[in-house]
Amino acid sequence: MFFKNNTDCTHSRITPEIESGYCPDCGKFIQNKWYLTRCSCCNVKRKTVIKQGKIQPAEKFCHNCGAKEFFVQPVRAIDFIDINYAVLVKEESANNSEATSQYWVEREPEPLKLLGFRTA
Ligand SMILES: [Zn+2]
Ligand SMILES: [Zn+2]
Repeated sequence: MFFKNNTDCTHSRITPEIESGYCPDCGKFIQNKWYLTRCSCCNVKRKTVIKQGKIQPAEKFCHNCGAKEFFVQPVRAIDFIDINYAVLVKEESANNSEATSQYWVEREPEPLKLLGFRTA
């Protein structure tokens, strides 16, 4: 998984305690999402970091079985155990473009003559 940081804002006021909210500094809607990596081989949790925009284990090899392969797992409800392993990703959704695409445009009322009135 890759994450791009398009803005300079780090949304520092969207703290990990809240699930989501509008960043008071840039106005973007921010969702706090937690991810952790697990060993593909033995399924053990691995300490997770983000390097070059990519979620990956901090160590190259699993401390439990020595495997290199891992998978990324989203964490729905972070708890005090997982918090030691997981990374927090602040996902932006551009509320401005969303508002535009969801904006409902009323059709122009059609002229009366198109509504089925027939004059003999
Ligand atoms: Zn921000
Ligand atoms: Zn393992």
